[in-house]
Amino acid sequence: MSTSDYPRPSEDRIAELRENLLIIRSKIAAAVRLSDKKPQLVAVSKIKPAEDVMACYEDGQLHFGENYVQELVDKAEKLPQEIRWHFIGALQSNKCKALAAIPNLYAVETLDSIKKADLFQKSLPDTRSIPLRIFIQINTSSEDSKSGLPPITSTSSSSEAVDLAKHILQKCPALHLEGLMTIGSIEASTTQDENEDFDKLKESRDNLEAALKEAGLTGWGQDGKLQLSMGMSADFENAIKQGSDNVRVGSSIFGARPKKQ
Ligand SMILES: *Cc1c(COP(=O)(O)O)cnc(C)c1O
Repeated sequence: MSTSDYPRPSEDRIAELRENLLIIRSKIAAAVRLSDKKPQLVAVSKIKPAEDVMACYEDGQLHFGENYVQELVDKAEKLPQEIRWHFIGALQSNKCKALAAIPNLYAVETLDSIKKADLFQKSLPDTRSIPLRIFIQINTSSEDSKSGLPPITSTSSSSEAVDLAKHILQKCPALHLEGLMTIGSIEASTTQDENEDFDKLKESRDNLEAALKEAGLTGWGQDGKLQLSMGMSADFENAIKQGSDNVRVGSSIFGARPKKQ
């Protein structure tokens, strides 16, 4: 595909998206000064056109997040291979195969079962040069509306998330256990400075690392540290101050989304 075949955003939209990215990047930089991390920005482009992704890509943005499998498949076909796609939507078993076939799928942030880990392990093509990064989703706010496994509250008791992490490390060489992801209570983020759900994710991470070490396992995260994916438009600055490694920002970059049918 030659460059001229890629979706072309309008000049006005390019200017608008560049401005928004600039604002988000400077807010991240400011929040980073209060933490010791340099988090990754995942631009969440769900329900927004491929042209918008192209405009951000040309402004140097590489990581994008999508929630709907077919939409991601369509965009990945049209857009540059260098883009690093993160799947951040509710994950259904019958969609794992279609996701695995996307050559530049970079990470799945919403894994929540051994069954789905096995489906990815089985269907990822041999042609992939890097393992698929996996975040296990944790439902830190225990809301029924949110997916994910319960938080890991101690190092000793067995928990679904610990079992899943061990399974990935022991049985799924095509996957790389990158870390934990949560959405957390948006209400807490808009009414309080610190969101206790983000602390719960950190505690889950520490407990999980201890449990994996105890089991003699290695090879997770980056430089031996599990990564935390937390923070969206409403709360990414606080999430960074609370230790996030990966923020997922949509509407503050692309504008409000219409309700999905
Ligand atoms: C939509 C979505 C986001 C981005 O939300 P904004 O509030 O638009 O920034 C982040 N994470 C997940 C899991 C999402 O579904």
